[in-house]
Amino acid sequence: MRAVTVQPGVADSLGLVEDQPEPPAEEGPILVEALAVGICGTDHEIIAGEYGEAPPGADRLIIGHESLGRVIEDASGTLQPGDLVAGIVRHPDPVPCLNCAVGEWDMCRNGQYTEHGIKALPGFARDRWRIEPSFAVRLDPALAQLGVLLEPTSVVAKAWDHIERIGHRAEWQPQTVLVTGAGPIGLLAALLGTQRGLSVHVLDRATDGPKPELVAGLGATYHAVPVNDLPFEPDVVVECTGAPTVVLDVMCKAAPNGIVCLAGVSSGGRTIDFDAGALNRELVLENNVVFGSVNANRRHWTMAAQALARADQIWLESLITRRVPVNRYADAYTPGPDDIKVVLEFAS
Ligand code: BGC
Repeated sequence: MRAVTVQPGVADSLGLVEDQPEPPAEEGPILVEALAVGICGTDHEIIAGEYGEAPPGADRLIIGHESLGRVIEDASGTLQPGDLVAGIVRHPDPVPCLNCAVGEWDMCRNGQYTEHGIKALPGFARDRWRIEPSFAVRLDPALAQLGVLLEPTSVVAKAWDHIERIGHRAEWQPQTVLVTGAGPIGLLAALLGTQRGLSVHVLDRATDGPKPELVAGLGATYHAVPVNDLPFEPDVVVECTGAPTVVLDVMCKAAPNGIVCLAGVSSGGRTIDFDAGALNRELVLENNVVFGSVNANRRHWTMAAQALARADQIWLESLITRRVPVNRYADAYTPGPDDIKVVLEFAS
């Protein structure tokens, strides 16, 4: 069968293997036919050789962590042939740590977790894959091809879950949300903000292309200005750019008691001159919270499925700006100027 693979740590080693062995039974009793795999910034980092780890004993990693497939068979009887399914990305560490022991692998404390298509577990960009029932999420058939958005939605569902848990440290009635970065994660974070009845603002550099219209389609407000020029102080910020100056600016911009969730991964290596004391003073005197958020556990995948089911399906469809068949995989992994979410298609 076909599989899209890389040699981790080696830039531009992306290739399509035609004779990948069938998934071994040890991967789980659920055999799945791949339908689609979404592509994100993490895939681009892996392809650039900056991130990613092959499974033990292998020198190549099958990539793809945003999955959608159709069940072929399930020897455990949990799912039925024909069911739409997505695979949970992260698996708990083997120790397990305090959090992995209770299914909170997204909060793993020792870094020994594994991730499909990213860290030491084969990914989903292959014709067939297998999975354990506890890492399979059944999708509402009505979602059809939009099910490929479940993984990025799980990431923002976790971010919102933690924002709300932090918010409830005191009386909390947030009104305004600022999302920085109008890529797929930012737009899905904005969607979940509008679903909470909040006034949502999205800031991005782009002045044309699909982003302004996608934000308007949510009933949210689009801004292509520096953070400091925004005419309000947000109660909640979901930072999705990872751009150092934006990260620092939103920390200063948050309202008193404001919560800043950092969800964008920076590449690092760039230093900037910054008055850390002034930032500290502002955060302390305003009871602000700044926290990082990555990955998602099973509870968040369930929340994500509910959020996608409630969303306008036409709006969700418009997030997917390119669908590319797997035999043209190199095009799929070459960023285009108006890309939001690019999806690699297997069987249809
Ligand atoms: C994935 C997460 C993963 C993170 C770090 C993201 O792109 O969506 O599931 O935990 O990368 O590897």
